Amino acid sequence: MRLKCVIMTVILVTIPLHSQVYVGIGNIFDNLFNEPYEIAYALLDDGEIFSFTTKEDSRISASASFRKEFIKKYGYSMDRVILLIHSHTHGLNRFSVRDIIFLKKMRRYGFKGVYVLYYKPTNSFKVYDK
Ligand SMILES: [Zn+2]
Repeated sequence: MRLKCVIMTVILVTIPLHSQVYVGIGNIFDNLFNEPYEIAYALLDDGEIFSFTTKEDSRISASASFRKEFIKKYGYSMDRVILLIHSHTHGLNRFSVRDIIFLKKMRRYGFKGVYVLYYKPTNSFKVYDK
């Protein structure tokens, strides 16, 4: 077995003593998920965002292929989607079986981003990590 020699370079950074740090705090989702029905968003790598809903209480009757084709119509491929997020307005505080099937289809279409669930009753997010 051949050993590799690793050379580490230490870079010294000089930080000015009197730099002012401006800190902001907010919630990027403040203007999203205010609807009483389930809604999904697809965020693209250039900041473009698509929303999908059928204004139903606990589902979105728009297939994975419909959403993929819609996004494609605007010149994007699925590998440019960095986030897929949808809401549950009540009930299940986890991804449903339908959600997982949907994700698998999107992965087949080239989606490589993060899959997130927003659970409205507790104002919390879950990232799908499998
Ligand atoms: Zn869901």
